[in-house]
Amino acid sequence: MADLRDLYQEVILEHSRAPRNYREVKTADHKAEGYNPLCGDRFIVYLEMDGDVIRDIAFQGSGCAISKASASMMTQSLKGKTRSEAEKLFERFHEVVTGRARANGDPVELGKLAVFSGVSEFPTRVKCAILAWHTFEAALEDKQEPVSTED
Ligand code: ZN
Repeated sequence: MADLRDLYQEVILEHSRAPRNYREVKTADHKAEGYNPLCGDRFIVYLEMDGDVIRDIAFQGSGCAISKASASMMTQSLKGKTRSEAEKLFERFHEVVTGRARANGDPVELGKLAVFSGVSEFPTRVKCAILAWHTFEAALEDKQEPVSTED
């Protein structure tokens, strides 16, 4: 169980208990729904853009601790970022949670999101961690159909 304790780090648990930006954005100009059938995680991500800048981002839905904490921390990280900054961060986050890169020593600053690097040891949980990010991308692209981690 030591590995699981590592995975569910304090910060992940804290965010899953009290997710940030867990609300609807009434003024959202983009939104999308994402689903992870392997775990049952399902979220809606709301975006309000100001030109190229993410003016507001929030989410609602239900899921496991990892998926919820990831969505919570994603909204914190992306608010105020440009679209291209956000896409770079997603790319970097994806590399780290899939174990293709280490969280340290990289020019792109993951910040607190580096806590998810432990997820790379648990392949079934990787989808939980990236669901919110896929849903964010789908929102940017105004996808009408719910996106699935299994597509
Ligand atoms: Zn999950």
